[in-house]
Amino acid sequence: MAWSNIIGQSRIISSLRHAAADGRVAHGYCFWGTAGAGKDAVALELAKMMNCLVPRRDKDGLLEACDECKSCHQADKFEHPNIRFIFSLPAGKSAPADRDESPLFRLSDDQIKIIREQMELKASDHYHDIDIPNAAQIKIASIRDIKKNVTMSAVQSGMRVVIISEADQMTDEAANAFLKTLEEPHSNITLILTTSRREQLPQTILSRCQQLYFPVLPDDEIAAALVARRGVALEDARLMAAFGQGSYSRACDFLNEDMRRSRHDIIDALRAALKRSEYRSALLHHVETLSGEKDRTRMEIMLALLLLWLRDAYEMSVAGAAAVITNVDQRQSIERFAAAFPDAPFGDMAIAVEEAAEAVRRNVDRRLILLTVLLRCRYMLPQGNR
Ligand SMILES: [Zn+2]
Repeated sequence: MAWSNIIGQSRIISSLRHAAADGRVAHGYCFWGTAGAGKDAVALELAKMMNCLVPRRDKDGLLEACDECKSCHQADKFEHPNIRFIFSLPAGKSAPADRDESPLFRLSDDQIKIIREQMELKASDHYHDIDIPNAAQIKIASIRDIKKNVTMSAVQSGMRVVIISEADQMTDEAANAFLKTLEEPHSNITLILTTSRREQLPQTILSRCQQLYFPVLPDDEIAAALVARRGVALEDARLMAAFGQGSYSRACDFLNEDMRRSRHDIIDALRAALKRSEYRSALLHHVETLSGEKDRTRMEIMLALLLLWLRDAYEMSVAGAAAVITNVDQRQSIERFAAAFPDAPFGDMAIAVEEAAEAVRRNVDRRLILLTVLLRCRYMLPQGNR
């Protein structure tokens, strides 16, 4: 059933369903909070419910989409005329001469193909994180499209809903155009912004939206979702959920990865870097092997795993046997690791790893990043430790 497609977030769902039942759905919403907590999924489900031809009511009179009518099917496939879903697109070959032209107009066939594939993935899983190379801006052409839509009446019965995903990526020009749309009263339309960087949105926009905070998801809800939706074995699902850190889509990043192998590889490299003497050739060997991967995903995952390992080591060094750690299956190993480096500044080392992850996202040479971060970890150790 429809709302059960959403992982957790029962408080938010309840408040939206009550608003719908009482005819109090807001003109503008800002769904904010960590990425992968279900902001887009809830927005899409709300849009579907508001347009369902035969919505169901529970005993409290709260609505739910039927998931079976023509409108629900259209909504699920992003083909509903009342529902718009807007997201970042790559810049075209040149600046548009006509600002009213379609935002897709200047893109190459390959780019359009990727966009189509990403939309299909998003349609089949509303938690899918749309990933289009060089797409970093929501352009004014996308927002102008809404304005044209807003002035037309709803094509089908129901309510028009415009969702702007990762709305902080609107250009200044787009944000200004959006603000105008938000300020003009239109009946029968709801504008929903979703963002994991609310602070980047102009106050003028935020103040005109009802803001709903999406808290991080509990590990057990993420693990249960991975088992039910992706067929992951429970033990693996628990580990992936822990690595997801409250984000279902982040946990899903680990689906195609052999996490245990990646963790083993990166921790081995760290151990090589922290060896007392004769560490150079072993360290270089690890760095060469690990940075040779074609895509950057594995490097990002390895750094995430390294970060969690160092956090666990810090926990262990502070709380000892009472430590609550992420790498639950490696408890003894982490205990030994923390004991081997009694004065290590694990917190500072974790910061160095976070900086390295940021450099990967900026496309800095991965071999250099890995070598630098491992050497920084080494030099942070007090002399007696190394
Ligand atoms: Zn329906």
